[in-house]
Amino acid sequence: MSTPTVWGRLLRLVPRNTYKAPKHGLQRQGLYFTSRQLSLSNQQLSTPSTSSDVDNETIESSSVVRKIKSSDAVTKHEIHQHFWKTKLGDPRSPISYHPNPAAEPFLTDRTWLRDACTCERCVDASSGQKLYASTDIPTTLAISDIEVTNDGDLQVSFENDFLTGGTHVSTYPREIWSRPSRYHTETVPKWEPWNRERMTKLSPYYSYQSFMTDGPEYLQAMSALSLYGLVFLRDVPSSEEIVKDIAAKIGVIQDTFYGTTWDVKSKPNAENVAYTDSYLGLHQDLLYMRNVPRIQILHCLENTCEGGESIFSDSYRATHQLWRLSPDIAKSLTKRQLIYHYNKGGHSYWQSRAVLSGRNVYWSPPFQHPLQPDEMTEEGMHKFRQWCKAARNLKALFESWDSIYMYKMRPGECVIFDNIRVLHGRRAFNSSGERWLKGAYVENDSYKSLVRSLPKLTRPTESLDV
Ligand SMILES: [Zn+2]
Repeated sequence: MSTPTVWGRLLRLVPRNTYKAPKHGLQRQGLYFTSRQLSLSNQQLSTPSTSSDVDNETIESSSVVRKIKSSDAVTKHEIHQHFWKTKLGDPRSPISYHPNPAAEPFLTDRTWLRDACTCERCVDASSGQKLYASTDIPTTLAISDIEVTNDGDLQVSFENDFLTGGTHVSTYPREIWSRPSRYHTETVPKWEPWNRERMTKLSPYYSYQSFMTDGPEYLQAMSALSLYGLVFLRDVPSSEEIVKDIAAKIGVIQDTFYGTTWDVKSKPNAENVAYTDSYLGLHQDLLYMRNVPRIQILHCLENTCEGGESIFSDSYRATHQLWRLSPDIAKSLTKRQLIYHYNKGGHSYWQSRAVLSGRNVYWSPPFQHPLQPDEMTEEGMHKFRQWCKAARNLKALFESWDSIYMYKMRPGECVIFDNIRVLHGRRAFNSSGERWLKGAYVENDSYKSLVRSLPKLTRPTESLDV
């Protein structure tokens, strides 16, 4: 734990009675104190003051402000540039602080602060689990002391603590109190847009052997997967089971009604357009499910057909372009909800999604329900026409020749792509030959967890605006 600052110690040297207000006064006083320390540990804090008095600030409190401001240590406290205000003696009053004197204050409820303690009395050291519920914390909390340490951490001393009895000192890292609302903002993995030219240059082909044995190409491939959403493995053994092993290196395999693994082969009277030999436009898989599989793995076991090249396109790039070119058009794709469904062979899946949601595209025309829930009014049809225009624009962006990376998979190759980001499809093929891909999905949470926990993923050296 870091120690309080010199300034904190200086303040403590001032005789306690200098700070003592007349009876009850300290419980009412409002104090501005600047980013340092306020010690009121001599006073009785267990009795809540009545709400009618809490606004009566004493003259004494302003003298404290003056003392702080006139001190030599003022320059030192400006290192952190935070300004605090609290009625320390009122166990109900919130604690407010300003990132700078001009900014609006952040307000922190005392119970919120007590709830946020991460000390080992409050959070189990081995499991990382919280040892009490928010509802266990009293709504009035006596605080005897607030300090900012040299490291910029905030230290709060709670009196008569509900959990541990006596004084409970909680320390909050600077990141929490200096911008609490952003503390949990997900650090989105970096991504780089790509087009055909860029993907051709990148040529993200990696050795199966190195990937599977945590060789250098494992991290390289995982970096490329998180940056671009598309990688290939080479020299993959010819086994139907291998996709499972590859999936296990990326996350947890996602079982679906297609099976843990599944085959992409053309067959008569196919229940899915993927199992025919016709052209398969760019799309994502399983948008009719709530938990859309995140990563798709396709291992090529045979491909002697003419045609049947796989095609891929970066939907993040297309979305980014659309928002930049025409925000109004992009907006209409965020409004209209489409129903995606799968109703066959005793299955009934159904999910409603907008084509654009944040950065994500949800695009799978073959699985759109023919009847969409638009309002049958003049306005409803106007919105529908707007949507059609926008959808055509977006489709033109991701289907343009320079957007598409095309590759004919050879036996012993395996493609791994981000099904949420990278649209995939296939050119028509002549089914006189054999085309057989073995597929598997990896579910979203386990993939994200893995990406977050891998050592710093490497980045490419150049960054192109494509
Ligand atoms: Zn604690």
